[in-house]
Amino acid sequence: MSLESASTLPEMSEVWHQTLSWYPTNEQQNQLQKLYELIIDANRYLNLTRITEPEDFWEKHLWDSLVGVSPQQRFIDILHHGASVIDIGTGAGFPGLPIAIIFANSQVTLLDSTRKKINFIDGVIDNLALKNAHTVVGRVEEIGQEIQHRGSYDLAVIRAVGSVSACVEYCLPLVKTGGLAVIYRGSFTAEENQSLENAVNIVGGEVELITELKTPLTQSIRHCLYLRKVRHTPVSFPRPVGIPKQKPL
Ligand code: SAM
Repeated sequence: MSLESASTLPEMSEVWHQTLSWYPTNEQQNQLQKLYELIIDANRYLNLTRITEPEDFWEKHLWDSLVGVSPQQRFIDILHHGASVIDIGTGAGFPGLPIAIIFANSQVTLLDSTRKKINFIDGVIDNLALKNAHTVVGRVEEIGQEIQHRGSYDLAVIRAVGSVSACVEYCLPLVKTGGLAVIYRGSFTAEENQSLENAVNIVGGEVELITELKTPLTQSIRHCLYLRKVRHTPVSFPRPVGIPKQKPL
């Protein structure tokens, strides 16, 4: 249990600009700071994150969340124009909360199977007065079969929730035909690339782009996998709870 209190996030305007061709507004900067404070405070009784130092938090949570929706150093166009977004297995709200903070025009659904984490995020949404974010508690294998969610999102994002092929099976059923899924990874191996191609093909997608980059402060490796949904996902996917992990595609 940590008894830390949050300090001030580092001032990173120039790094934002160099890496994402973007400057946060003062309001966005204040909201990101407030998010940091709320997470550090709740970390005293909830196991939300081990990344608590201001520079680490900035790089590994905030910057990392936004770089995934900024392939080739530009934010994905649809986010500016009112995309519907789902963050699968959002945990403490990453990458979904930074996306909601920066893209007020987009509607962001934050999904997690853990009620306590979703309760925490509900508090953040209230505290930051985010009108474009809401939460869902549930297992993605079930949510992906529900009519109000299946094939409904322009963009699905997923970070640190399972193997590459499990993430593919979680994401693509939720995306509209023509929409995009982004899988955030640290390392990404040749074997994973094979299982990626196989899984994407089964659930109706194509691999559009894979980026490899280094984080700006600690030069850690990141990969982002961009998957385009090109046809309907067969009704049998996602398979029932636990199967995507136990029997990867
Ligand atoms: N995405 C966040 C991040 O990158 O900081 C949290 C990652 S955390 C390691 C994985 C989260 O996924 C947990 O909060 C867990 O409850 C959630 N999760 C795991 N399996 C899930 C499932 N089948 N459906 C919905 N949420 C799931």
